[in-house]
Amino acid sequence: MPADSEVIYLDNNSSTRIDPAVLEEMMPFLTSRYGNPSGSHRFGAQVKEATNLAHERVANLLGCQPNEVVFTSCGTESDNSALHSALQMSPERKHIVTTSVEHNAVLNYCEAVVRRDCEVTVVPVDEQGGLDLAELERAIRPETAVVSVMWANNETGVINPVEEIAQICKRKGVFFHTDAVQAVGKMAIDLESLPIHFLSLSGHKLHAPKGVGALYVNRKARFQPLIVGGPQEGGRRAGTDNVASIVGLGKAAEIAFETLEEENSSVRALCNRFEKTLLAELEDVLVNGDPSARLPNTSNLAFTGVDAQAILLKLDQEGICCSLGSSCTTGSVQPSHVLRAMHFPDERARSSLRFSFGRFNTEAEVDKVLEILPRVVRKLRQLSATPA
Ligand code: PLP
Repeated sequence: MPADSEVIYLDNNSSTRIDPAVLEEMMPFLTSRYGNPSGSHRFGAQVKEATNLAHERVANLLGCQPNEVVFTSCGTESDNSALHSALQMSPERKHIVTTSVEHNAVLNYCEAVVRRDCEVTVVPVDEQGGLDLAELERAIRPETAVVSVMWANNETGVINPVEEIAQICKRKGVFFHTDAVQAVGKMAIDLESLPIHFLSLSGHKLHAPKGVGALYVNRKARFQPLIVGGPQEGGRRAGTDNVASIVGLGKAAEIAFETLEEENSSVRALCNRFEKTLLAELEDVLVNGDPSARLPNTSNLAFTGVDAQAILLKLDQEGICCSLGSSCTTGSVQPSHVLRAMHFPDERARSSLRFSFGRFNTEAEVDKVLEILPRVVRKLRQLSATPA
């Protein structure tokens, strides 16, 4: 097992390393500055100042107002809160429109409300992971409360035309929520110019810690909290603030804002070189997801004829981390719902791996993966071709 420092981490869509500058900013709030920001003494006020700054920094990254940012415990809570609020605010509307490739934070919420008398229309995607906007529009009915479409897909990196979807929802007079957990920090976002009501993000996808997220709530959108109690976050999310993590998310947002363009081009260059070289060197590799509308850091590839789990295991032994295009549920490997929704046969989904690059990856790491991966795949293909 390689030492932690030798690991080549190509699983940044799953979680990212905390940026050292983020950790530094958090430390006082884990040690000496432990006051409650709701406290009425100066010791608490100092802390309140820090959480206020975090609101400003996240708002700056999103192009919105600081009081439109509500800190939560994670992306999942943000997604659940947005959908919950939309349903609560218009009780006569009991219909949600979403897509077949959403994260389970949205899909399983929808499944849960179906059991409580709500209806859900799941709009399909094509083989490239793209949505038919006319079909999405047709799915919206007078009783639709909210449309929820992710900005970018976590498995394939496919980017949805969120601006156009927001306009459709505006015309139709329905709430629009976007799960931007994978988009924030990887693409420029300017909410001031878009009719989006709710947007979810998660700290651990952009070099802040796990267990902190945020929900953008448009100041014109009426809102009902999911978690009720104290008056924190303007009454939109009760519970004493997770101060250190909120401060960390604020710092991560500041870094993302300042480095977005530069980082995107360097991460894109690494990811492109990885994919292009691999496709040129290794036969029978297919790209999953529309390459013309994809996050700069995500490469989801099908290695025809090989079980992706076997590749993952071999790469893991070599200290290379990536992700399966499938998930383990109760001991059996299920093909990814995203790749299935893209109409791929189970065999293609089961041979797919996701490589997701990030801020701390290097050229030398890509070289090493390009040296190991083709060898591993060829060897596994040979083994499966050899009669037992
Ligand atoms: N939405 C998307 C698109 C994600 O990729 C994830 C995490 O993988 C989530 C939501 C959930 O975020 P969290 O892990 O912060 O709950």
